[in-house]
Amino acid sequence: MPFPTPTPTEHEAYRRSYERRRVGMLGLTGVAAVVLGVLFSGRGRRWLGEEQAFVAWLCFIFLLGPVGAIVWRCPRCAMSFGRRLSVDVCPECGLTF
Ligand SMILES: [Zn+2]
Repeated sequence: MPFPTPTPTEHEAYRRSYERRRVGMLGLTGVAAVVLGVLFSGRGRRWLGEEQAFVAWLCFIFLLGPVGAIVWRCPRCAMSFGRRLSVDVCPECGLTF
């Protein structure tokens, strides 16, 4: 089903929503890198213990995917952007960002 061309006001709102989502994803990726790095480091394993650090790492990984999938979507058609951290055009509805 084709999507109607958005008005300039709607397009600006979609673009702003996309930018917020992108900043959220970049932030999430940065936090994930730090948390996973600490959990994998010797210090993290010493703080938590070997097994607890691994369980914390698994829990974090299982939380990260669903949170990313909820946040990182097209603001118009809700299509997931997957693993790409920057999208110029939505592959589903053709909205440009
Ligand atoms: Zn879309």
